[in-house]
Amino acid sequence: MCGIVAYIGPREAYPVIMKGLKRLEYRGYDSAGVALLDKHNLRVFKKQGRVAVLEESIIGEDLHAHAGIGHTRWATHGEPSDRNAHPHLSASGRLAMIHNGIIENYAQLKTELTKKGYHFKSDTDTEVLLNFIEDIQENNQCSLEESLRIALKRVTGAYVIVLLDRNHPDTLIAARKGSPLVIGIGKGEHFLASDASPIIEYTKEVVYVNDYELAIIKCDELILKNLGNEKITPFVQKLDLELTAIEKGGYDHFMLKEIFEQPDTIFDCLRGRLDAAKGTITMAGVQNNLDKLSQAKRIIMVACGTSWHAGLIAEYIFEEICRIPVEVEYASEFRYRNPVIHPGDVIIAISQSGETADTIVAIEKAKEQGAFIFGVVNVVGSSIARISDAGAYTHAGPEIGVASTKAFTAQLVVLILIALKIAHEKQTLSDERYMMLLSELHAIPEKVKELLHSSRHIRKLAEKYKGVSDALYLGRGNNFPVALEGALKLKEISYIHAEGYPAAEMKHGPIALVDEQLPVVFAAPKSVYHEKLISNIQEIKARKGMVLAVISEGDDVIAKMADDIMTVPLTDELISPLLSVIPLQLFACYLGMAKGFDVDKPRNLAKSVTVE
Ligand code: GLU
Repeated sequence: MCGIVAYIGPREAYPVIMKGLKRLEYRGYDSAGVALLDKHNLRVFKKQGRVAVLEESIIGEDLHAHAGIGHTRWATHGEPSDRNAHPHLSASGRLAMIHNGIIENYAQLKTELTKKGYHFKSDTDTEVLLNFIEDIQENNQCSLEESLRIALKRVTGAYVIVLLDRNHPDTLIAARKGSPLVIGIGKGEHFLASDASPIIEYTKEVVYVNDYELAIIKCDELILKNLGNEKITPFVQKLDLELTAIEKGGYDHFMLKEIFEQPDTIFDCLRGRLDAAKGTITMAGVQNNLDKLSQAKRIIMVACGTSWHAGLIAEYIFEEICRIPVEVEYASEFRYRNPVIHPGDVIIAISQSGETADTIVAIEKAKEQGAFIFGVVNVVGSSIARISDAGAYTHAGPEIGVASTKAFTAQLVVLILIALKIAHEKQTLSDERYMMLLSELHAIPEKVKELLHSSRHIRKLAEKYKGVSDALYLGRGNNFPVALEGALKLKEISYIHAEGYPAAEMKHGPIALVDEQLPVVFAAPKSVYHEKLISNIQEIKARKGMVLAVISEGDDVIAKMADDIMTVPLTDELISPLLSVIPLQLFACYLGMAKGFDVDKPRNLAKSVTVE
């Protein structure tokens, strides 16, 4: 969570940092702040709320500086407030620091420092670490770099920190463990950020800092060291990202833009991989490890949130066509419960950002026990991509809206491709069905385009249902996780309480909620479950519930029974979630907009969950 930006060089630091913070605001928006250092003049400005609130509040201030750090917060320790906003100043006022992550042993460190007479101005773990660093420096009369090394050896938790020292206006010091940090290398200048989006318009040369590394950054020098004070040669990479990809492009909201991008993102995800005419799937990460993948005794999908739903859908698909048992695990549970892992088990780690803290630790543990780790991530060069033994990128482009949409469908596409490749290798799928599925997959981008034409109708439905206080989402087979995902989107974006269930499970409890006030949303594209779903809809109607159904084109039966319908083109049921989820994304987005909420930044959430 949280976005950090820093700059050192000949430009004015403030505009670079502010622009960068706005791009990173999806990562947290409880407060924003900057520290600017010019000669020996260190100034901190911070404010609860969005970056724009901070900007407004400091009009007219002296903001001139060539070095600075900025932060947009997702609070973990201490309420969102001016006082808890970053950057924090050390007790002497000499050091300013921003931090992304959690210092787990902060309470112990705080007790030690309090005994020594330190007083704290905030409730954050960050201010404790900062004073701990300063205390070490004062006691040992050493450099800031040295004190940082000593401090970090005692710290448990996750962090990226960036420090400014009033006495050394020509240097920024940063360190990382568990949270992301990218350094952009310009001509006589350096840019630091949580992801590359604040950097791309200035330079395409970047260095991804690794865990337990320290960066000492001047205008024209970048030194990387490990905690043992040994120098490390920075690995400079070229960014493959364009500025237009992170702008709104005429839409009022990123979420809406990203939903409408799906014909392109799915196409991009298939491009160069799928050749439906020749019947080939080209994925180096899969091809090079085809034996391991196809001989796996078990596959475990590890993920959180929306990615976990992608894993659940993949479970149905892998088991059906690959005949490999699949388990789908919440990363946060998996990492703590001493799971049974056999050498040769394959773990598929799914994460949009590739920085999800729980997923990272889960796969590190599984790797130690001999599992083979395959990463399915969107952000190139992210931690999960680097930890994994092999992987496939989802190529959905930057996803800025906090609620995941296009990254979800891209994850599904990648998982489907992997399953098809394994099934073809294992011959657990007939050649005929394999070829048919390839051509159905090839047709998906066009079908998504077609279904998006009904967006106006879905917007009207959102207006109609915006007054409801609860909703039940039901589906069967691989559309059961679509129901879960639809309910999650509604909760996230419109703050309406929603639950997802397998449709047949409703009789074991949730049906008690059904009355004329409750909309029941069915994810019901054509499948072998069609008759069963019709019975479930009858059961809801018999209790006067309102039924809203996502159905396949030409399904007159459910169309007649439901109060409202959202239609998707016909496709093979194995891959139908790729279509059926999209009306539910749009429904949630329009409903949130109709209620006047900021759909890109839902309350209490942040995009990249880099804390556990
Ligand atoms: N733990 C710190 C805080 O609560 C940093 C949180 C963040 O990553 O934004 O202020």
